[in-house]
Amino acid sequence: AKAEGRSGFVTYSPAILSQIDAQLGEEAAIKRALNDDEYFLVWQPQFELATGRMIGAEALVRWRDRVSGTVRLPDSFIPTAERSDLILEIDKTVLSKACAQAAHWMSISADDFVCAVNASGKSLQEDAFFLHLVEVLRRTGLPPSRLQLEITEGVFIHSRNALDTLSKIRNLGVSLALDDFGSGYSSFGYLADLDLNRLKIDRSFLNDLESSGKKQDVIRGIIALANTLGLVVMAEGVETEAQLAFLIAERCHGAQGFFMSEPIDVKVLTNQLIARRGG
Ligand code: C2E
Ligand code: CA
Ligand code: CA
Ligand code: CA
Repeated sequence: AKAEGRSGFVTYSPAILSQIDAQLGEEAAIKRALNDDEYFLVWQPQFELATGRMIGAEALVRWRDRVSGTVRLPDSFIPTAERSDLILEIDKTVLSKACAQAAHWMSISADDFVCAVNASGKSLQEDAFFLHLVEVLRRTGLPPSRLQLEITEGVFIHSRNALDTLSKIRNLGVSLALDDFGSGYSSFGYLADLDLNRLKIDRSFLNDLESSGKKQDVIRGIIALANTLGLVVMAEGVETEAQLAFLIAERCHGAQGFFMSEPIDVKVLTNQLIARRGG
């Protein structure tokens, strides 16, 4: 699609040009939204299956886009942000908001209530991410043990710097979950390279679980692997009672999904924590 023009300049096809335009337009929109503080968090509760207790919640970013007048989901802007340096700014913003909220919840949540935050591998390459994390923990007073970072396998995370950052994060006392386990190419390498605390079984293994003996076997295998490695194993994307029953029978440690709870507003989760404390 790239060609030498008559003048010797490289010329691009209209399709490529409009792609570049779109990328630049989206980046400008993301920057504006960061400035205008249009990002906010919803929280999806995570449950311990043996007891049914809520043991934590995952922060999921949303964008209240004043231009389009809609609330945008991460899949519509995280990929653009990851192609630029903006993902670092988004991840830092999310971390600040999540830790401030988690610190507020300290007094009403049980000791084992852990807030999970997603971090892009690209952000983990940057020293600025680690420095920001240290600063946020200091500023909010959140005990590091109350925070978990969810990371995915991906090209960026292979870098020496990302792996170093992850071990420094572990040394702070923040825990690490390997997200979307089983969906990538080299999951097993990370199990040896990283000091992980938790494995999250990718949602795809839960789809059609009821009718797929093979998927059931894969999940059994992942649970056994996690147990062998001393990792807490969580399932995500639980949408049916049958899926939940299967996970309980297989002694999966925890789960999250629409069947138990969709991602909810801060206020709703706060009320649930208060009600639980009272009851
Ligand atoms: P993820 O980390 O795997 O997050 C789980 C996604 O699955 C969320 O979508 C959640 O709403 C959805 N989900 C939860 N339960 C169910 C279910 O039972 N069924 C189905 N079909 N879906 C369920 P969401 O919020 O749209 O997030 C999508 C992805 O965007 C996340 O996948 C994560 O990779 C990324 N993301 C979200 N927030 C952040 C963030 O703050 N920073 C970064 N870097 N990435 C984020
Ligand atoms: Ca996640
Ligand atoms: Ca996931
Ligand atoms: Ca994902």
